[in-house]
Amino acid sequence: MKPLVIVVGLYLSSVSCVVSSTAAPKAPAHDVFLITIDTLRADHVHCYGYTDGSTPALDALAKDGVRFTEAFTPSPITNTSHASILTGLLPGSHGVTDFAVPLASTHPTVAELLKERGYRTAAFIGAVILDSKTLAPGFGRGFDFYDNFPEHSSSKSRWGRLERRAMDVVAHAENWLTKHPAGPHFMWVHLYDPHDPYEPPMPYSQTYKDHLYDGEIAYADFALAHFIAYLKTTGRYRNSVIVVVGDHGEGLGEHHEDTHGIFLYDSTTHVPLIVKVPRGDCVGTVVTAQVRTVDIFPTLLDLAGAAAPKKSDGESLQVYFSGTNGVDRPAFGESDYPLRFGWAPLRSVRNDGYKFIEAPRPELYDLRRDTSESSNQYESANVRVQKSRAMLAEVKAKETLADASKPETQPEANANPSSLPDPKDKIKEQNLLHAAMMASEDDRPADARNALEEALALDPKSPTALRQLGELELQMGDYAQAAQHLKSAMVVRPDDAAAAFHAGQALEKAHDPAGARDALEASLKLLPGQFPARLLLGKVYLDLKDQKAAEDQFEAALLLQSDSVEAQLGLARAQMANGNFTEAAQSLEALSMAHAKNAEVFSLLATAYSGMGKSAEAQRAQAKAKALHGK
Ligand SMILES: [Zn+2]
Repeated sequence: MKPLVIVVGLYLSSVSCVVSSTAAPKAPAHDVFLITIDTLRADHVHCYGYTDGSTPALDALAKDGVRFTEAFTPSPITNTSHASILTGLLPGSHGVTDFAVPLASTHPTVAELLKERGYRTAAFIGAVILDSKTLAPGFGRGFDFYDNFPEHSSSKSRWGRLERRAMDVVAHAENWLTKHPAGPHFMWVHLYDPHDPYEPPMPYSQTYKDHLYDGEIAYADFALAHFIAYLKTTGRYRNSVIVVVGDHGEGLGEHHEDTHGIFLYDSTTHVPLIVKVPRGDCVGTVVTAQVRTVDIFPTLLDLAGAAAPKKSDGESLQVYFSGTNGVDRPAFGESDYPLRFGWAPLRSVRNDGYKFIEAPRPELYDLRRDTSESSNQYESANVRVQKSRAMLAEVKAKETLADASKPETQPEANANPSSLPDPKDKIKEQNLLHAAMMASEDDRPADARNALEEALALDPKSPTALRQLGELELQMGDYAQAAQHLKSAMVVRPDDAAAAFHAGQALEKAHDPAGARDALEASLKLLPGQFPARLLLGKVYLDLKDQKAAEDQFEAALLLQSDSVEAQLGLARAQMANGNFTEAAQSLEALSMAHAKNAEVFSLLATAYSGMGKSAEAQRAQAKAKALHGK
């Protein structure tokens, strides 16, 4: 459908809700505010019919704009979902299918395209998982300012290290806007609060003590109200575009899923979506047609008078703004997150009142009669199943084309998904793994251990549980236990370089140098450029009295980090163990110039001089080492 035709048509039929783009002559460019509220289920928002919570800011914004009652995200995890919002692409097309997977520069973002049109751009994030320097590489493209987290935080608390309260995010955004008043602006503001753990501040922690998730939503809404009030006070509200959307929902125990990330049911894919357009147009419009969060990208460009790139999986929502267009758009869902745990990925399509989920045990729900998606009607011969499969195949073909430049697929992605366990059989384990991850983040090792041990009781071969428990025991100093879990993890997942490295660390600490050698060699075979593994393997070879192999490892380590003192000291030790004192003394002498306060350098230099028969020099170096050591 051509939006232009619709807009002209509406104009001629003099429907009040016509939004002119900024491409119109002399029209001032509008400020554009994209506000994403994390983990926000549509059915926990008051204007979406919820009565146990309070969301006055969202409700007021809906009154001032267009509320989409049936909006769906293609992904139930934060980074993937946000990448779809920012690019208008389905996960398989933009490739950000897990945390830390870079958003490739070949996919233009709304920030880049608006910046090209002269917008001043800034992003304010509420969670470290969206930090563009660490877990969300590529997300910062197109933003003049991206409010990342501090690189080093000594705080053990989650606040400021992993997460920012909504009021902090909003304060950062308002300060920036005050300091950079000249627009037009494109700002993305991300409020993370409704994400678990549910820990709203007072008074929400008290008012909502029996349903803290709603307390987090009420608090995020309070912060949104503050931001909207700021826009009104500064005269920016009326002429701005404001989009508020949830990145995904929350399981809340439905389908046995506590949080989100695995399944594609409505509990985690149905999100609120509100679009306020400039000048008080379209007020109070409610659209019941099914739309998608990939439609936000072309809508923002449309409202800014910019054309969306041809490669887009969404379409502008402007055609709905009059409230009369009821055409449903097919909503696709993709979840590769299960692959991280060795389980089958899921695909879904929500179309024509039905939801089909492709899985080892496929599912079909008649959403008109079965809104809770509890009665599986799947039969392979069913016409709806066949149509859905054809639609999914079409999406896959399109994504594969877009995908040619994708850097690396996960190893499991190449396996036949139907041969992997169905996530439906693994969700209890996933809830425990998630609880363990949150406990580790919050520095509660005992809780993390309990959850991981429970997960292992469900599945003794869970690679994630084995690896996490091994790493936990390694941190806690139980090296024998750590080594046992990590060796098991290596057996279950022989391609996991990190598990093998940690196994090497645990075995070395547990005084099993031969075992450590094998694990480290295995890890380095998978991923040769690991400096810490090279260094440790050099040390292990020294323990094993294999001096030649030790020298090779320290030299390899120095190729990776030529200025590493540890690697240079290791190499000198290996050289001396080989009887090569002169060479060791030469490199240690050079090292002692640059590191005149390093006692170990002088101590080793003393050994080298002794080996060369230079006892006076040896004594001087030893005295220097002793003096430095005493400091
Ligand atoms: Zn999220």
